[in-house]
Amino acid sequence: MENKRKPYQLVSLDWKQERTVFKVKRVEIGGDNFNVIAGPCAVENEEQIHTIASYLSKRGVHFLRGGAYKPRTSPYSFQGLKEEGLKYLKEAADKNHMAVITEVMDTNLVEKVYEYTDVFQVGTRNMQNFQLLKTLSKTDKPIMLKRGWSSTIEEWLLAAEYLLLGGNPNVILCERGIRTFENSTRNTLDLNAVALVKTLSHLPVFVDPSQATGLRTLVHPMSLAAMSAGADGIMIEVHNQPQEALSDGDQSVYFDQFDKILEDVNSLSSLVGKRPDFRKQVNIEN
Ligand code: PEP
Ligand code: MN
Repeated sequence: MENKRKPYQLVSLDWKQERTVFKVKRVEIGGDNFNVIAGPCAVENEEQIHTIASYLSKRGVHFLRGGAYKPRTSPYSFQGLKEEGLKYLKEAADKNHMAVITEVMDTNLVEKVYEYTDVFQVGTRNMQNFQLLKTLSKTDKPIMLKRGWSSTIEEWLLAAEYLLLGGNPNVILCERGIRTFENSTRNTLDLNAVALVKTLSHLPVFVDPSQATGLRTLVHPMSLAAMSAGADGIMIEVHNQPQEALSDGDQSVYFDQFDKILEDVNSLSSLVGKRPDFRKQVNIEN
């Protein structure tokens, strides 16, 4: 069959046959690793993020998520604690020996977010904010690029191409569900995209089953489905009191639900040939 020339190059497996693997702090991302990122949708106050970080670190989770600048559909919804939130997030991560991942919404926030984060998150609404991508491409911190909720796989890979072309090779692609006619779930998790992108690109591919489903009961099955489809990691919204959460409470899992996800991800990992990163931690208390 004719090998049709792809519009992207640097992100392509034809261009680079070895899978991209890089370290954040001392934890490897990509290759045979399976990473778990977890935390609340938004940092709400100091106590909340410390409670969640302390719980997660006891489970051996290395990556703490939490939004400080939130892209909310309604301007009346909680917009995040901004720099104060970044500060609480980093303090909670440092105290628990975790790495931080948080969203950067705007070019003029890159410098500020850089001071607090270990990995930049580019949200679905910003996947094609080319100026933001160009600015981030000049930084030396890894970037997790969410798929635009109505972007094709090719558009997503071309967005990632901006990051590599600008000089930043440490990119994670994250499938977080797309818009379809279906409205029983918040989005439709496109697992085809995960399996397909693994054949097209050398970049690690993660899945966010929280934004993809909008329903906490679906986070467990879709985490396992993501792993089965070949994902290199998952990002999960966890909250100590989901019913009180200031954003995305319905899709945030309780601690005991998260425990079950880790347990089953661990069981499935040998079958799919992956090494879960949370296994490395010893001394798990309670
Ligand atoms: C989030 O991770 O909380 C978020 C807003 O993600 P997305 O950009 O995928 O909607
Ligand atoms: Mn969210």
